[in-house]
Amino acid sequence: MDRRIRQLLSSLNVPWKYPEHAGRLTAIRHLLELEPIPGLRFESGKAATREQLGRVHTSSYLTHIFELRGKNAWLDVDTTAVSPGSVDAAEVAAGTAIAAVEAVLEGRTESAFAVVRPPGHHAEPVRARGFCLFNNVAVAAAHAQAAFGCQRVMIVDWDAHHGNGTQDIFYADPDVLFFDIHRASPFYPGSGQLEDIGVGLGEGTTVNVPMPAGAGDQAYLKAFREILVPAADWFQPDLILVSAGFDPHPFDMALNVSFEGFAAMTGILQSLARRHCQGRLVFVLEGGYHLISLSRGVKTVLDVLAGGAIPEPGIIGLSEVEGAADFHRQAFTSE
Ligand SMILES: [Zn+2]
Repeated sequence: MDRRIRQLLSSLNVPWKYPEHAGRLTAIRHLLELEPIPGLRFESGKAATREQLGRVHTSSYLTHIFELRGKNAWLDVDTTAVSPGSVDAAEVAAGTAIAAVEAVLEGRTESAFAVVRPPGHHAEPVRARGFCLFNNVAVAAAHAQAAFGCQRVMIVDWDAHHGNGTQDIFYADPDVLFFDIHRASPFYPGSGQLEDIGVGLGEGTTVNVPMPAGAGDQAYLKAFREILVPAADWFQPDLILVSAGFDPHPFDMALNVSFEGFAAMTGILQSLARRHCQGRLVFVLEGGYHLISLSRGVKTVLDVLAGGAIPEPGIIGLSEVEGAADFHRQAFTSE
């Protein structure tokens, strides 16, 4: 299949640009070097073991992926390709999400952010999808349960795309509450209907909030305050994980969440974590492909986690309209 796609692309004479690339993490690192955050500490990542990955992926799937180490291949018709370093990078992405959970559960920090790639939330137990090989946040949740005895883990996914893989992995699991706010189908991957609430013992612990194109801060914060907060208060998590994608920012052209919106959502998650689980809060990077909104978005979250002030989002353009109204008012009044 990869030969066919390459042929197609070369006949179109357009350069093939893969949007999920190493420059994403470089952009984040550069911004954090340029604008250092007091109190922020860096730790290096590590590779996940086969046993750790095997808590959420099948053995035959892992064997299949490991056979691709060092090779080029297409894994899925949508977007998912591997280059020679991809399998190693995916192991480190999942292992670094685990390392962030360990840092928090061992009490070395209140909160942590695993700045990793490739992302994970589209990866299903037996299938790679949407740039994702291993489901990093699910591997981290399973590790918290298996290695630290966490009973209830809440995963909040605010990436623009629905976390189909994470939903799939925990759909029947009453011990993982999965809350996902995303742009509604037919936007990729097309899953995450309002009615998808889990199954069997897990009925009620999947919460989907599909949003129309262009939805922004006010709608997202209303969903957080009126749906997520009561769900978390009912569930009482031992740990909160966040699948943090920055593609809801308008620069990625699907939704309209501003940096202030990301900051306000982080503030809500931080207060939920402090209320229920000693502040234990771990972010895992998912999507976000515009390098400016991606890097600024990550820094915005880290600023809040490090104790910075949380600006209340305004409505984009409102103050400009007020200024323009003042400017023009005299032209249309008779006195
Ligand atoms: Zn996404």
